[in-house]
Amino acid sequence: MNSVKFLIHTYGCQMNVRDSEAVEALLVRAGHVRVEREEDAELVVVNSCTVRQKAEEKAVGKAGNLIAAGKIVGLMGCAVKRLGPDVFKRIPKLHFAVGPRAFWMIPRIVGEGRYPVLETGDDMVPQGMDAHAETGRGGTFAAVQSYVTVLLGCDNRCSYCIVPDVRGHEYSRPAEDVVAEVRCLVERGVKEVCLLGQSVLRYGVRNQAWEDGWRGEAFPRLLRALDGIDGLERIRFTSAHPKGCTDELLAVYRDSRKVCRHLHLPVQSGSDRILAAMGRRYTRAEYLDAVRRLRALDPEFAVTTDVIVGYPGETEADFEETRSLMEEAGFDNSFVFKYSPRPGTRSAALPDDVPTSEKERRNQVLLADQEVRGQRRNERLVGTVREVMVEGPSKRNESRWSGRDGGNRIVVWDRDGGERVGDLVKVRITAAHPQTLIGELA
Ligand code: SAH
Ligand code: SF4
Repeated sequence: MNSVKFLIHTYGCQMNVRDSEAVEALLVRAGHVRVEREEDAELVVVNSCTVRQKAEEKAVGKAGNLIAAGKIVGLMGCAVKRLGPDVFKRIPKLHFAVGPRAFWMIPRIVGEGRYPVLETGDDMVPQGMDAHAETGRGGTFAAVQSYVTVLLGCDNRCSYCIVPDVRGHEYSRPAEDVVAEVRCLVERGVKEVCLLGQSVLRYGVRNQAWEDGWRGEAFPRLLRALDGIDGLERIRFTSAHPKGCTDELLAVYRDSRKVCRHLHLPVQSGSDRILAAMGRRYTRAEYLDAVRRLRALDPEFAVTTDVIVGYPGETEADFEETRSLMEEAGFDNSFVFKYSPRPGTRSAALPDDVPTSEKERRNQVLLADQEVRGQRRNERLVGTVREVMVEGPSKRNESRWSGRDGGNRIVVWDRDGGERVGDLVKVRITAAHPQTLIGELA
């Protein structure tokens, strides 16, 4: 079979990044060659997102342009599952399309070379998810860090969200496989892993994760097992739901030096009325209680979030509740999204009644609040010493190094010469910005 020069473009979340890495490793294993530049590629795979309409349009537009440029083009990921056979109407002459759980079929499809092909994948359990460990290309941010998908799909069915429709039902990968994959990554130089799942604390809830029939909480046990791997320095995971913030999980945070004190805990809204409409299954008070318990463990515990503005029926009063919740929670960082109705979701049946200009205004207000709050949260760290993993030269200034502390805060300092990527160094913080800390080697 002919070797093909290929390139992958990735849109969307960390899980897509991880899936693209798996496809890359599987294509390389099948004898194909990854190239850096689009003009050198014969095959381009576009990994798509559909969580908001704009995200889908970007990926679909990109695939169309590549076809016009004469490439063999495959679309993978969430938009494929949403569009189904209509994908070939949206993108005429597309060669192949594979859904989020069918990515592992790409090497076979390319090998056979008979187009068009559609594989939506549905609830399929992908093979070769650990192929990235084999090639040693863990590197998402740097070669020393790697994503590891542990929980596929989502069973939460929040009213606005298309993810359960496109990524299928929850499936927890066997814990033994996850541990083996992380061991393999560590042997190849990875020092930090980030475990991925839409609602990752539900790991082991729908299907049994541990072969020995463990009846306790599966995710905290997984964290403890990974904590025992020599050479692994840091463990992160995302995304979380307040219901998963159990005493067991808190005990792991307390006991483990490796489990980072950062939690991405999407809140979506601060209004109980909107939270109920969204089907989030917690109240404002329950959410804030989870944050309070994390910060009781460590006042510098970093909590970050996602918020949606302009959900159907969101009033000015609801929005102000979101603002005040964000202030009470003291988020270290937040990602704000303008509500986008997604076909087939429960909320798509409701009128999208907050005007675009008002969504934009609410978005800007929350971003401005976060700037002030981020500055204030970061200023508390001036004068303290943070443990930072070296990631590489700073993008803005090559004479400086950049890395992250356990709270996922970006830290920048003047290079000393002795540090290597993947080292854990102590940095004394000398100045704070809303999104970055500046320091010097301590
Ligand atoms: N599984 C994650 C979220 C995945 S989607 C979790 O529940 O924590 C990432 C973010 O996109 C969500 O947290 C939400 O803030 C946003 N989002 C999801 N659907 C959306 C929609 N229809 N419109 C606008 N934002 C949306
Ligand atoms: Fe979507 Fe809710 Fe599942 Fe997150 S938990 S992926 S927001 S349905």
